[in-house]
Amino acid sequence: MLVVMRQDACPEQIRGVVEAIEARGFKAHAIPGVQRTAIGITGNRGAVEAPVFESLPGVLEVIPVSHAYKLVSREVKNESSIVHVGNVPVGGEDLVMVAGPCAVESMEQTLTIARAVKAAGAHLLRGGAFKPRTSPYSFQGLGEEGLKILAEAREATGLPVITEALDNEGVDLLERYADAIQIGARNMQNFSLLKRVGRSRKPVILKRGMSATLEELLMSAEYILSEGNYSVIFCERGVRTFSDFSRNTLDLAIVPAVKKMSHLPILVDPSHGTGRREKVAPLSRAAAAVGADGLMIEVHHDPNRALSDGPQSITPDMFAELVQDLRQIAPVIGRRL
Ligand code: PEP
Ligand code: MN
Repeated sequence: MLVVMRQDACPEQIRGVVEAIEARGFKAHAIPGVQRTAIGITGNRGAVEAPVFESLPGVLEVIPVSHAYKLVSREVKNESSIVHVGNVPVGGEDLVMVAGPCAVESMEQTLTIARAVKAAGAHLLRGGAFKPRTSPYSFQGLGEEGLKILAEAREATGLPVITEALDNEGVDLLERYADAIQIGARNMQNFSLLKRVGRSRKPVILKRGMSATLEELLMSAEYILSEGNYSVIFCERGVRTFSDFSRNTLDLAIVPAVKKMSHLPILVDPSHGTGRREKVAPLSRAAAAVGADGLMIEVHHDPNRALSDGPQSITPDMFAELVQDLRQIAPVIGRRL
């Protein structure tokens, strides 16, 4: 259920509605819009009696929300949301470039890459300190040491930092070092982790599970918003198919599908989406063309010696060339870069 306030509703009237919702044991989510504020109601088991709220001062109307996902949907908030990672707005006119290594390997490696991607035009730095690896014998990441290196790289370049949390304890740590918390594909339906980041003040990059449907992706974001964190950015990173020429199949069709259903921004990760270096640039151009709000790209200065995902990592030179190409495409599709 959604309580839509009149355009001239004052803050006390909004507070009054929030209190009335909470007095019934429900949760109220005030969603300010350009025109008016709407207040989403969650936590109700059955129907909410609309007339109770309709008669409160400042209320324009009470409308039922038909989808299982509510707070993420355009029914509740029609205007697209802009989510800030550090000082970088994601979801507005700017096409946002997130770049960096798959894993933080050392201070020197991370600083080298961070400086190179910054010079090439990146807005945000990515890099895993905790790595979800298929094999327990593969490099697992540097842990807190890696987070310190990322913080150092932010200091050196000014780039806000995105890094992955694998579990709730990881979130506690990341909150001290990172500008945004990434939830990886393997954790898209780790509901206790979703609730934990929902209680965080940091923005969340929610990657699509490798076999997740659109509805499952939206519901996972709903977990985060329902806990009070409205700063969620989706990330399409490819799904499992029968393809024998790429690591995953980058499902670019989900970009307009997400845009239709949700007001939240979406990035595309063509690195995990293809698994092959030479496919990263063409799929990046395509992702921009279908309306992605930005790209997340793995870059390594010495990819053949990378401790993880070398085959899909592009070099800083390739990244710089890609940014040049995207700068030409951006104005044609109504974007800025
Ligand atoms: C990553 O971004 O490094 C990563 C592990 O991605 P995913 O969760 O999409 O596999
Ligand atoms: Mn990776």
